[in-house]
Amino acid sequence: MARTVLVTGGNRGIGLAIARAFEKQGDRVAVTHRGSGAPEGLFGVQCDITDPAQVDAAFTEIEKELGPVEVLVANAGVTDDTLLLRMSEEQFERVIDTNLKGSFRVAKRASSKMLRAKWGRIIFISSVVGLYGGPGQVNYAASKAGLVGMARSITRELGSRNITANVVAPGFIETEMTAVLSEARQAEIIKAVPAGRLANPDEVAAAVTFLAGDGAAYINGAVLPVDGGLGMGH
Ligand code: NDP
Repeated sequence: MARTVLVTGGNRGIGLAIARAFEKQGDRVAVTHRGSGAPEGLFGVQCDITDPAQVDAAFTEIEKELGPVEVLVANAGVTDDTLLLRMSEEQFERVIDTNLKGSFRVAKRASSKMLRAKWGRIIFISSVVGLYGGPGQVNYAASKAGLVGMARSITRELGSRNITANVVAPGFIETEMTAVLSEARQAEIIKAVPAGRLANPDEVAAAVTFLAGDGAAYINGAVLPVDGGLGMGH
């Protein structure tokens, strides 16, 4: 059955791979962008998730064109790395405001319609760093760990209404976010990953479409790592 799907930050990177995977299965797919426009074939809405009014307007536009959002993928995210002693209040807040509060804003807006439909899937894109930690990533790790508590609380609130809230925790994926890492840092990461390589964004998308599918109806409040074994046991 075709569903209406929203992928925040679905205009590029991992989000675009996720959007394309849903498109391939025949779903109606909307993506947010902040001015780049939507990639070919996808329904684009301009939306900065740090602004609640823009989030509300984006959902209203999608509801008008594609119907209520049934599958929400909260993927948009940023990094702003530096060591704890150098990290400013602004750097901490900006990352939390996008990654954690932005996910809260879209989940809250989506959930009212999901409750009415008595069906919904919310998938938060976290990171291995959320539970494993990362030097220079106090803000980012805190924002990504927060998504686990958020998903589990939503599960406890809405689980009885056929709504699931799960977390996908990617390891190191080949995108613009990791392209900025030095070659030495990339080599170090590859050495630490049991799989011995970075992942392709499609490998994250496969986990997301699985969690959104009917076969995953009894998986709720779970953290699914897609990290080549990097974070085992966390
Ligand atoms: P990219 O940097 O390639 O893309 C980030 C996306 O987020 C863009 O679409 C960007 O939109 C969007 N975005 C950022 N800020 C906002 C905002 N305020 N409002 C709306 N959209 C925003 O990142 P990736 O594709 O690599 O990462 C996607 C997700 O996966 C992120 O949450 C990231 O933390 C997570 N992740 C990535 C890993 C990796 O190795 N790459 C590993 C683990 C997790 P715009 O084009 O307008 O800038």
